[in-house]
Amino acid sequence: MTKKIFKSIISVSVIVFALGLAFVMGILYRYFGDEIKEELRKEASYLAVGVEKNGTEYLESVTFDDSRITYIAEDGTVLYDSEANSDSMDNHGHREEVVEAAKQGSGEAYRISTTLSERTTYYALRLTDGTILRVSSTQYSVTALMYRLLRPLILILLLMFALSAFFASKIAKWIVKPMNELDLDHPEENQAYEEVAPLLSKIHKQNRQIKNQIDTAMQQQAEFSIITENMQEGLLVIDKYTMILSGNSSVWKLFQTKEKTGESVYSLDRSEEFRRVVENVLEGRHGETVLRSPAGHVRLIANPVIHEEETVGAVLLFVNVTEEIERESLRREFSANVSHELKTPLTSISGFAEIIQDGFVKPEDIKMFAGRIYKEAQRLIQLVQDVIKISQLDEKEIPYEWQNEDLYCLVKDVLDHLAEVAKKQDVQMDIEGDRTILRTVRPILEEALYNLCDNAIKYNKPGGNVRIVLSEDPYEIRIAVKDTGIGIPQEDQGRVFERFYRVDKSHSKEIGGTGLGLSIVKHGVTFLGGSLELESEEGKGTKITMVFPKDTKES
Ligand code: ADP
Repeated sequence: MTKKIFKSIISVSVIVFALGLAFVMGILYRYFGDEIKEELRKEASYLAVGVEKNGTEYLESVTFDDSRITYIAEDGTVLYDSEANSDSMDNHGHREEVVEAAKQGSGEAYRISTTLSERTTYYALRLTDGTILRVSSTQYSVTALMYRLLRPLILILLLMFALSAFFASKIAKWIVKPMNELDLDHPEENQAYEEVAPLLSKIHKQNRQIKNQIDTAMQQQAEFSIITENMQEGLLVIDKYTMILSGNSSVWKLFQTKEKTGESVYSLDRSEEFRRVVENVLEGRHGETVLRSPAGHVRLIANPVIHEEETVGAVLLFVNVTEEIERESLRREFSANVSHELKTPLTSISGFAEIIQDGFVKPEDIKMFAGRIYKEAQRLIQLVQDVIKISQLDEKEIPYEWQNEDLYCLVKDVLDHLAEVAKKQDVQMDIEGDRTILRTVRPILEEALYNLCDNAIKYNKPGGNVRIVLSEDPYEIRIAVKDTGIGIPQEDQGRVFERFYRVDKSHSKEIGGTGLGLSIVKHGVTFLGGSLELESEEGKGTKITMVFPKDTKES
């Protein structure tokens, strides 16, 4: 802008100056032309008096410095000329001023020399005898004058140009300064030029609009982050070149990596399967698959982002399905185990029944066979009951009610139930501890304690002992079942709570175990918000403790 103003001022100054100069010169030239004309007229009238009296002689007696005098006879013959020999001069009768003077008494004319450098003004006066006295004066023509004045003119022009440039630069800066100092953040507060007020008010309006738009965009961004950051699922947005545009913290946690915004999505997972789904989704096709991530199994749901019928990117959702998949595989394993466990007693029952049916059994042995069928059927019933309990705990289908229970009474009830079995095994049972109140679900805790005590009797030695110890501190309540039985080998201790895991399969079966007892204990205690501790030494005995925090949250 400064440059433009500068150039404009210079151009205007130069043009105005040149025009002004030409104008002044024209006026001066014209003024001096008129002066000359007037002088010629006066000179002609003085000379006319002398010539009227003495003719050519008068003219010859006078010297002329500035002007040229020509005396012409009536027929146009030159009688006298102050600068040339009159005899050699041609007839002047047709000269414009001479013709005019002959007719009207006086005549005027201008003639430019052939070189255009001079302009001659003629004034002719008719005398009483009809002769013509002509006075002329020569001056520079405009062109010649210009040519002669060229150097000073150029000098003046240069000077004027320099002066104009100096002032133009100052003025341009002076004009632009307030514009440069405009505060565009607060346009309304500026008082620069009245002319820019509408522009400033427009800027103010646009500033407000932009601010509103930015505020809205930021608010939406904040809302989006709050939503995505609170999602447990991982969320990624990628562009059509697979570059990660944004991702929530869950996704980085799932892949156990630092934030990878701006990198290719393939840097998260290099598997063939992942590449296939990403390629498909960027071709506009929805895709789903399960991937292995450092955090476990992750289900990927990929949806294309389509804009104006073109896939411009994709949204990838990652859901941690490790638990789901593990539960599924556990369930499959459990079903396979259950089928196997059911098959064994059923095969026995069917075998015994077949032998009886075929008449291979002596009548006196029938009772014994019936007894074995009964025992296997009992095992079956026990197994089915345990499977039902496990399934109920798995699906949390047990109708339960949380109540404050006196553990001493509860333990006593369980021991009463088992008194006969213990007696048969020659095992002594006792309780250590006082009245202890725990908020719990009685049937679940009772079942767990029953199984622990049952095992403590089953896997005991004749003359052995089972002791239930109740204890509490400010934080937790502990129910320990201690026996003096066969103990659990160190290598099996980590697995006895698994479904169908038995240390000695044949011994367990023989004494009626299903392999589900401790699994039911573990499920039940977890359901009640507690945990289990196991201490055991082979040949010496086992201690299994249920630990419940006092502020158990009811689930
Ligand atoms: P089971 O129905 O076979 O008793 P459990 O799940 O109750 O199944 O127990 C799993 C295995 O742990 C048993 O087969 C047994 O070998 C072992 N076990 C459980 N309790 C005791 C204990 N008190 N003393 C020694 N071994 C035990």
